[in-house]
Amino acid sequence: MSERILNIENLKVSFDTYAGEVEAVRGVSFHVNKGETLAIVGESGCGKSITVQSIMKLVPMPPGRLKEGTIEYLSTDITAYSDKKMQHLRGKEMSMIFQDPMTSLNPTMRIGQQILEGVKKHTGLKKKEAEEQIIRLLTDVGIPNPDKNMLRYPHMFSGGMRQRVMIAIALACNPKILFADEPTTALDVTTQAQILELMNALKEKFGTSIVLITHDLGIVARMADRVAVMYAGKIVETGSAHDIFYTPKHPYTFGLLKSLPSMDLSKETKLEIIPGTPASLINPPKGCSFADRCKYAMNVCNRLEPPENEISQGHAGSCWLLDERAPKVDLIKGEIL
Ligand code: SF4
Repeated sequence: MSERILNIENLKVSFDTYAGEVEAVRGVSFHVNKGETLAIVGESGCGKSITVQSIMKLVPMPPGRLKEGTIEYLSTDITAYSDKKMQHLRGKEMSMIFQDPMTSLNPTMRIGQQILEGVKKHTGLKKKEAEEQIIRLLTDVGIPNPDKNMLRYPHMFSGGMRQRVMIAIALACNPKILFADEPTTALDVTTQAQILELMNALKEKFGTSIVLITHDLGIVARMADRVAVMYAGKIVETGSAHDIFYTPKHPYTFGLLKSLPSMDLSKETKLEIIPGTPASLINPPKGCSFADRCKYAMNVCNRLEPPENEISQGHAGSCWLLDERAPKVDLIKGEIL
């Protein structure tokens, strides 16, 4: 059995705002195994980023509030860890790559210095050894002439190169788990492909587990071993990448897949969209939060929250259609049988 690095149970995170309590994460449970890539997918605002930021304790509290749930890292409960204790974990055990490297890097510091901070803090290497480590890291992430480039400032690099620097910083202390929050959204397609290839190569080389947050299913298909689909602060379907792409069972997952452009679309074919807008997370609906947008919604969907049903080993979904009493539907044809 694969070793579990991270185990999240029933995580609930809210924000107290003038408009009321925003229930951003509403009882999320998942795990990450050693050396695998778990992709968390869903529309903007579904709670993916807040979930991982809560695990890393990067959500400012207040206004944020961890209401419930447990976060276990290597079988140790870190839910109540103080910021000081988390500082020992962040960088050394778990790291994060953010979407926009320009706002995440310090524009006034040379990049070598920025990588050095983490290396010195967590490894205790002497200056000379730390510098050698920086050169090794910059070489690993594909930055040419690392001895010269480590002396340059972020604005002297292209977007793709800055993202490589971010990855070097994140990997500086060889963390066991890497959270990547839309790591290629700000990049052009060619650079995006290079960065994803680099992340895969580094995962193979160092055995790092990756939690990849994205709304791009093309990236998921390319990178993920397992997938968790999030909607309105909850995971609605989870399974292997094969389960999610070839036998999706939740209407929302199916809608996401159908809205992907395909190479064989003719000019006349229109892309499918999921009608409506995501449910409000201030006073979220009592039943299924996808009910307003779901063409299969039944009476029960508006009244009761669907429980999680196991579909096959490792594949589960929260939808009343998975109940044995529900009518059978053909998601491909969009018909109730
Ligand atoms: Fe649609 Fe009901 Fe399933 Fe929700 S529970 S996705 S409303 S069928």
